[in-house]
Amino acid sequence: MTGFKTTLITCHQCARRIMVRAADAERGSIVCSHLGCGAINTLQTTFQYDERLVQGLPGFGKLVCQRDPTQVYPLQFGDNVIGTANTCTVQVERFMHGGQCFVSRRHCTLTVTFDPWAGQLRYLLQDGVADPQQPDTRQYSLNGTQLNQVSIRKTELIDVADQALITLGGADQFRLIHFSIPQPMLDSYRIELAFNPDRTQ
Ligand SMILES: [Zn+2]
Repeated sequence: MTGFKTTLITCHQCARRIMVRAADAERGSIVCSHLGCGAINTLQTTFQYDERLVQGLPGFGKLVCQRDPTQVYPLQFGDNVIGTANTCTVQVERFMHGGQCFVSRRHCTLTVTFDPWAGQLRYLLQDGVADPQQPDTRQYSLNGTQLNQVSIRKTELIDVADQALITLGGADQFRLIHFSIPQPMLDSYRIELAFNPDRTQ
């Protein structure tokens, strides 16, 4: 353990503070030195990733049109509104089916967030868009949104896996391609957190 800083934890038995040194951390446990206690506290190292790494990413994933895979739509961090309107983050074509288009002007929202524990981007799908005038209300699509052929409920905010199929209005399909953060980059943004004594023993 290089660069280990002496730290304090709370004893799981007597609730008093115990000083943890590098040797204790390497052993993975520490015996409480307080009089009349002597409990063994397990030292679990824990870490997360600094979300500032998001600023250095070259991309945030993309949607690939299934009918014409040369049509690729890059995603941005945060909300991506998908629809036919030119104000959408992802403006798709007005795909016609028997003279009808099933995609709404502002059809659904795919939100890209960063999970600091997993060190991965998350993709959350919801039908419709938030009304900018009234943030509590949503405007839903006319024909619904499906994930892997299953309709999502209006109130559902659902995780979309890599390679999953998003269907707009039951007709037009897009495959989500996640952006996978390279491990060397994750390593350089790793933050070691303080020890958590294991309360189960
Ligand atoms: Zn103790």
